[in-house]
Amino acid sequence: MPRPYRIAELFLSLQGEGPSAGTPACFLRLQGCDVGCRWCDTKYSWEAQGGRSISAGELWTELAALGDAPLLVVTGGEPLQQAQIGELLDQAVARWPRVEVETSGIGPPPRSHPRLHYNVSPKLSTATPRWEATWEHIAAWIAEPRATFKLVVASPEDYDEARAMIIRYAIPGERVMLMPEGMTEPVLRARSEWLADRCKREGFRLSPRLHVWLWGMRRGT
Ligand code: SF4
Repeated sequence: MPRPYRIAELFLSLQGEGPSAGTPACFLRLQGCDVGCRWCDTKYSWEAQGGRSISAGELWTELAALGDAPLLVVTGGEPLQQAQIGELLDQAVARWPRVEVETSGIGPPPRSHPRLHYNVSPKLSTATPRWEATWEHIAAWIAEPRATFKLVVASPEDYDEARAMIIRYAIPGERVMLMPEGMTEPVLRARSEWLADRCKREGFRLSPRLHVWLWGMRRGT
């Protein structure tokens, strides 16, 4: 039997970002991403032929062995660049009460389901030369009712650009979360403080990066 999925790692942790931050979660980190964000904290997941291949049966058995969690986070890498992502998500929602997919939005939503949620993170121009490709399907993502938009902001200039894109595409403000970029606690704290001020003024939600605060930049957290 061919093994259809390539994974970087499986682990049990807390969801660190987005609307479910703090929730115990099984993480399925898929292998492969060509978006190329300069601040990417999982560059080990970029190479499409890296990681290991795994069958669907092995995948669900290994995830179940991690322990019970009310949430499955499907992340990467870029999950939308994984062959058979739709089939994987069909199987995921049959097993978990809530599934969240972390994606740049570089493709359209592969599935829509009441238990399937998307944390869509289209990129700003400072993140990657490919940033515009992550906005090509924004209308389809806005039409997906369970998509939240998590924009990563590293500077006041980034904030201005994020705000302009939110206005340009008429993304509902209550579906937007702004998250400070940062890989150390002091950097995150400083950026969170001025970003929180802007969120209060504009009505956006602030996303933490709990895993960085709790454990630093470590794999499997
Ligand atoms: S899309 Fe995600 S995995 Fe890919 S380079 Fe950007 S941050 Fe890293």
